[in-house]
Amino acid sequence: MNVAIIGAGINGLMSALELSEQGIEVHIYDQQQAGREASWAGGGILSPMYPWRYPQPVNALAKHAKALYTEWNQKLLPTTGIDFQIQQTGMLIFDQKDFDIGLNYANTHQEPMQICQHLTQKDIQKLNPKVSKQFQEALFFPELSNVRNPRLLQSLINYLKHQSNVTFHENIKISKFCIQDSYVTGIEDEQKVIYSHDHTIITTGAWSANWSAQLNLQIPVYPIQGQMVLFKTPKNWLTTMCMNEVMYLIPRKDGHIVCGSSMKDIGFDKALCMHTQQNILNACFEMIPELQKFPIIKQWTGLRPSSPTGIPYIGTYPQLSNLWLNTGHFRNGLCMGAASARLLRQLILKQPCIEDPTPYQPSQLVSMTKHF
Ligand SMILES: Cc1cc2nc3c(=O)[nH]c(=O)nc-3n(C[C@H](O)[C@H](O)[C@H](O)COP(=O)(O)OP(=O)(O)OC[C@H]3O[C@@H](n4cnc5c(N)ncnc54)[C@H](O)[C@@H]3O)c2cc1C
Repeated sequence: MNVAIIGAGINGLMSALELSEQGIEVHIYDQQQAGREASWAGGGILSPMYPWRYPQPVNALAKHAKALYTEWNQKLLPTTGIDFQIQQTGMLIFDQKDFDIGLNYANTHQEPMQICQHLTQKDIQKLNPKVSKQFQEALFFPELSNVRNPRLLQSLINYLKHQSNVTFHENIKISKFCIQDSYVTGIEDEQKVIYSHDHTIITTGAWSANWSAQLNLQIPVYPIQGQMVLFKTPKNWLTTMCMNEVMYLIPRKDGHIVCGSSMKDIGFDKALCMHTQQNILNACFEMIPELQKFPIIKQWTGLRPSSPTGIPYIGTYPQLSNLWLNTGHFRNGLCMGAASARLLRQLILKQPCIEDPTPYQPSQLVSMTKHF
């Protein structure tokens, strides 16, 4: 069996890894270099922020993130030499209106990742002395981790390139499916070169709605822009992730601190907006005032693949049995990526599933007109 994967973000690369490790021949196509879009731009928090604000199927996949990425890091490291640094810093949340619901959620779900404690100002200062003293209370999630996502992508690309059953086709934009008798017989690039595979997987993130017209189903996955700012502080300067009103700071092992983020529905526009950048800075300086002393190293934007509920589409495409989707992960593609890919691999190979696949089935997509 050989499989084509269109899109080399976290979802394409993890799908490639899951399948290639089972001995399947995998071909990965990307319109640019692999791992350059949302999956690079994200923060790498390994849990939905405020998990109680998301549907349960999102949390069901995300809860596997830390364990699966930790296993993969150990497996890939000897080949790649790249540690993608899964760091359990825990997270402080200062949104008072979420305190009760957060504590109840932790009690109801009893998932290690969502264990949380209510902290007083004294506790907060002991745990993270850089937090502004204006915060009298916080919720602390000690199990929450972050992954250094650009390194995760580098590691996946490097490892996959070492595998004899994996081929990368970078800078190749797939523009068309060749379909005969409800079967995808090939995929065609912009130069009209056709590639034939037994199965094809769509992991094109924010670009996924582009397939709707020719595949006769609305795939409602659109770009939502997010902006980020990177600071460099001394090592171990900030001890926990911090979050307030959906703005956050993520400390990396070497003292880099990733600050974000914004949400803008402006199509495929990736231009930085200074007003938005200032909003991010204001929110982060309010939490951690001393951060203002340190230099900004980088600023960027990324395009989240938003779907109506935030639940990704994972499974076989209605009407086309050898076409598969793994897309629409919105704000949580890094934390859902490992389990999404495992679920997809288990569905393709008809193996027992890590989670009930029903909530992710693309069969819920709305038909446009024609039948193949
Ligand atoms: C600012 C920001 C912060 C975020 N923070 C977090 C976080 O902390 N935790 C978390 O879990 N998630 C986070 N996310 C969300 C997460 O990054 C995304 O959900 C995830 O990266 C989506 O991965 P993907 O593989 O589906 O898409 P992408 O990484 O965008 O990859 C899609 C790929 O498809 C390729 N492609 C598209 N069309 C074609 C075509 N026709 N032919 C060939 N190739 C094609 C593109 O070039 C691209 O490489 C964040 C996102 C942003 C933008």
